[in-house]
Amino acid sequence: MGSTPHLPVTSQQESKLVGLAPETRSAVKIVTLGTGGAIPTPARSLPATALQREAEIFLFDCGEGTQLQFLKADLSPGKLRAVFISHLHGDHILGLPGLLMTLAHLSRKAPLSLFGPPGVSDYIRLTCRCLQFSPGYELIVKESSGGRVYSGPDYWIDAVPLDHTVFTLAYVFEEKERPGRFLLERARQLGVPEGPLYGRLQTGTDVTLSNGRVIRATEVLGKPRRGRKVVYAVDTRPCQQVKEISTGADLLIHDGMFSDQLREEARLKGHSTAVEAAEVAQNAKVERLLLTHISPRYRNQDALLQKEAMTIFPHTTVAKDLMQFKIQVHK
Ligand SMILES: [Zn+2]
Ligand SMILES: [Zn+2]
Repeated sequence: MGSTPHLPVTSQQESKLVGLAPETRSAVKIVTLGTGGAIPTPARSLPATALQREAEIFLFDCGEGTQLQFLKADLSPGKLRAVFISHLHGDHILGLPGLLMTLAHLSRKAPLSLFGPPGVSDYIRLTCRCLQFSPGYELIVKESSGGRVYSGPDYWIDAVPLDHTVFTLAYVFEEKERPGRFLLERARQLGVPEGPLYGRLQTGTDVTLSNGRVIRATEVLGKPRRGRKVVYAVDTRPCQQVKEISTGADLLIHDGMFSDQLREEARLKGHSTAVEAAEVAQNAKVERLLLTHISPRYRNQDALLQKEAMTIFPHTTVAKDLMQFKIQVHK
């Protein structure tokens, strides 16, 4: 074969030709299933947010009616891997019995993990007993007071205590850093033959050439690429913990229940105003802030909350039900 094209490696076809694995990781998708708080309104369901990464879906909170929102969002129940409950206030958990029962009706066989604060096991056990319901699939319920609750091959989900009227957990989804971009020209200059060695170097593994020379992966890779990070912090006062766990996040989903005119009410009820949430986002230098758990008193007043938050942090969106956000891999 004649000389292959030089830097950069631009296409999947070209990658394959020289022995590199194509980079096919798809966007992480966030779907706002329920964006209201306390009681539902015609426009806003109760709290629930889905995060889809490849073929896995994680659900954060499960307010009443979540299973219907799940269907409206065209999410596949079969891909649901785990549910993460922030706290035991009814607006965040009353959708669980229905969802668990529907999964049984759908003949689910795969296990389902469910995480939440202390007390969540009793809620599930007693509800199942009262409803005389036993799922035909393995339901693994784990209580947490904080720390790592779920791990995948190259990502994890941590729980962190928040500042609310009852014990409440934030959840942080984070991916492992990826090796840097493969520097094809550098590999050629170092005499690495095209083929399987490229693939190993690409994954960060050092290799030895037939002449005995060791090539370190760092010699042919660019700077490591950061993973994606999403923080779910609902219900909560603005607090130092959220600022710390949100540092550099691609998306912060934060309690934004009230307008700043109700700052005192927010404090008394353990919630945040749009401005307070924006200050957390600004301090943590997140990419985007999504305000959720909007008070039922606000009908068609998204613009007010948005305007207040944007005076502090311009990259703010007031969540509506069934919005989708895509977070692409960092290049
Ligand atoms: Zn709530
Ligand atoms: Zn609450």
